[in-house]
Amino acid sequence: MRNRIIRWTLSLAMLIGFSMLFVSCEADMNEVQAGTIDMRGPNDYNPASVCKCVNDYFPIEALSSTESKAILFMREEEKLARDFYTEMNQKWNARVFYNISKAEQRHMDAMLCLINKYGLTDPIGDNAAGEFQDVGLQQLYDVLIAEGQQSYEMALIAGAKIEDVDINDLVTSINDVDNQDMLAVFEELTKGSRNHLRAFVANLKTLDVTYTPQFISQELFDKIISTPVKKAAASAVTV
Ligand code: ZN
Ligand code: ZN
Repeated sequence: MRNRIIRWTLSLAMLIGFSMLFVSCEADMNEVQAGTIDMRGPNDYNPASVCKCVNDYFPIEALSSTESKAILFMREEEKLARDFYTEMNQKWNARVFYNISKAEQRHMDAMLCLINKYGLTDPIGDNAAGEFQDVGLQQLYDVLIAEGQQSYEMALIAGAKIEDVDINDLVTSINDVDNQDMLAVFEELTKGSRNHLRAFVANLKTLDVTYTPQFISQELFDKIISTPVKKAAASAVTV
């Protein structure tokens, strides 16, 4: 019985940690849990409060080399998304790219919190938009940009592809990490990517284009598309 209570308390603490992650730590926890606070507004986002949550709500745990690699990689992968959508917004002047580029900036900020918390070196350094340290990400970016420049439709497909890759990488990483702060951040980022994927697929649908997943399974894709947009606790990531 005592074990059960401990387990329940731990899960509750974890749940609160997750749902509090991207909202102000001072927000009334009861209201957050009751879902009465709209956490999606752009005004309640503050990078400092995200870091405060990462630092205050989660302990510093030993970091395996797989975990540190995952943090550095995801930091750059979020930059890839932000740079791509910023570029596509300039090219096609479409709200979907503008909104999602802002969400990706928030994802990058969350990854930077983890980098600073664990004293890692930010792989972005002085790199300009479209420049990456990771060779694979550089290649992916260059291919996607070339595709996205061709037409608005191709840009939307490239956007769906980025979210497809992102979800796949995040889900794989989640299996390899056990630090609570990383799990909380990665879960939130996945939630954001699911929403972004839905947005691109919906926009493609208006053009009569069906997106076929290339990285995640068709089964997972269908599940994501048929699930309504996640509202709760996704202030930093919902568009
Ligand atoms: Zn993202
Ligand atoms: Zn995204």
